[in-house]
Amino acid sequence: MKTDFLIVGSGIAGLNFALKIAKYGKVIIVTKKEIMESNTNLAQGGIAAVTQKGDSVQLHIKDTLTVGSGLSNKRIVKLLAEQGPEAIKSLLSFGVSFDKENDELHLTTEGGHSMARVLHSGDSTGREIEQAMTESVRENKDIEVFEDCFAIDLLLNQAECIGAKILDIKKRDVCDIFARATILATGGVGYIYQNTTNPEIATGDGIAMALRAGAKLEDMEFVQFHPTTLNKLGAPHFLISEALRGEGAILVNEAGKRFMLAYDSMGELAPRDIIARTIFNELKNGAVYLDIRHKGKSFVLDRFPMIHQECLKYDLDITEDLIPVSPAAHYLCGGIKTNEYGQTTIANLLAFGECTCTGVHGANRLASNSLLESVVFSSLGAQKAKNYLKNKVKTTSQKETVFSNIETQELNYLKADLRKAMWDYVGIIRNNEQMQLMLSKLEKLNTRLVTIGKNGVNTRFLELKNMTTVANLITKAAQTRKESRGTHYRTDYPATDDKNWLKHIRFQQLEERLDVCFS
Ligand SMILES: Cc1cc2nc3c(=O)[nH]c(=O)nc-3n(C[C@H](O)[C@H](O)[C@H](O)COP(=O)(O)OP(=O)(O)OC[C@H]3O[C@@H](n4cnc5c(N)ncnc54)[C@H](O)[C@@H]3O)c2cc1C
Repeated sequence: MKTDFLIVGSGIAGLNFALKIAKYGKVIIVTKKEIMESNTNLAQGGIAAVTQKGDSVQLHIKDTLTVGSGLSNKRIVKLLAEQGPEAIKSLLSFGVSFDKENDELHLTTEGGHSMARVLHSGDSTGREIEQAMTESVRENKDIEVFEDCFAIDLLLNQAECIGAKILDIKKRDVCDIFARATILATGGVGYIYQNTTNPEIATGDGIAMALRAGAKLEDMEFVQFHPTTLNKLGAPHFLISEALRGEGAILVNEAGKRFMLAYDSMGELAPRDIIARTIFNELKNGAVYLDIRHKGKSFVLDRFPMIHQECLKYDLDITEDLIPVSPAAHYLCGGIKTNEYGQTTIANLLAFGECTCTGVHGANRLASNSLLESVVFSSLGAQKAKNYLKNKVKTTSQKETVFSNIETQELNYLKADLRKAMWDYVGIIRNNEQMQLMLSKLEKLNTRLVTIGKNGVNTRFLELKNMTTVANLITKAAQTRKESRGTHYRTDYPATDDKNWLKHIRFQQLEERLDVCFS
């Protein structure tokens, strides 16, 4: 099969790029489950952008750089903040509806923001965006969407990307799709951790594929842990949005005592890494709760209807009860290295969204900057991507991959074991000894996977292979960085070391060897 643009992933980044580029060429989107299944669909708090008087691009830049802890790229952050208002206009043009008050967009605040600048749609902002964009994509005759199609690997012709190898999950058939440009928009990696806000799709496939193809990756050690997810036996780590704290919710310990102000003057609105570590430590002495009861029932029901409903499923009424919370893996700040147009270090391979490292987040992400980043850079990329229409669609025949009905019991066990080990050994608080244990575990897992995959592949196997690759990259990067900065905290190197570590760790697969360099 051939097309002009092949996009892998149907979250905000993939859909936005598709909608912007479809005026110039034919587009195929492949996505491994149903179109709406994505991190995007679960985003609650909102999208940050400067939209009202009193706020300024300079302040948005300043807040982003402060949270990024010295490793954000200033030029890219400036571009992000400047392009913010345009990105919002673009979302509105696709029919996305944000909450309003007195005819003006309602703005909320979140940790690290010095102003209220987060636009939202109740507490289901991601669902509103994903739904509106999906409808626009469905109406566009130049975009074809193939659901239940899993991208296995990129196809290369002399170091140039010419498409991707796809497993049609329902037909159990592997085929090649060739394109003038191929776009990875495969989202994050949260599912490699036992406790996570991310859905099952977040297994880092795009990052692993890019590595295998020889692309450069950066900042893989910086995994953001969200401080407040539901912590109730039998319930998933459902996100309790930062917007609750933005609207005045406070954190209390088992004794009912507010504790955050003792650790940071911004209290409940301190950057996420500080709150996550504080809660993690408080949990050693008993439960930690979020309390929004003082805001009143009608406010809570009006502002957080989805969180209220979801908690009710687990016998918790947030208008009357304290909400037990704990941190969970949430967002990967690093990923496939790109410039502002989504260009990777491989010709004709672009990447957008959470799978990338554009340079915006550095060592930590400012809340609600990721939806914005996905829209801004996929829009800029689409303006430039017209040029790829000059490329010939090249085809090649490569080693055949076949479907195999691999027995899932062992794969499930190995996956659960990997996720637990990542949480225990390379989680919120790290040290060399535990990371070394993780690396030995990953080596054994890798050897086992080579044997299991000898006769063919299925989705579960491919995901576990990609999770192992990504876990290895995160652990190696975290072990290499001998300091603490942003989301990365080590008990054996607790201080930030600007003299030696104001630099990025970059990976590239060179045949059998993983090359590590600094930039
Ligand atoms: C619970 C939660 C709340 C959040 N809240 C906010 C918020 O309020 N504000 C904010 O800015 N950010 C928030 N984030 C982060 C934000 O949602 C994500 O960073 C962003 O949506 C990523 O978009 P994306 O398009 O890059 O990836 P996703 O939306 O994750 O989409 C990835 C797509 O790729 C597909 N895919 C993956 N691998 C393959 C493969 N091998 N083959 C085919 N398809 C594949 C997936 O199925 C999916 O369609 C939140 C995240 C979570 C989990």
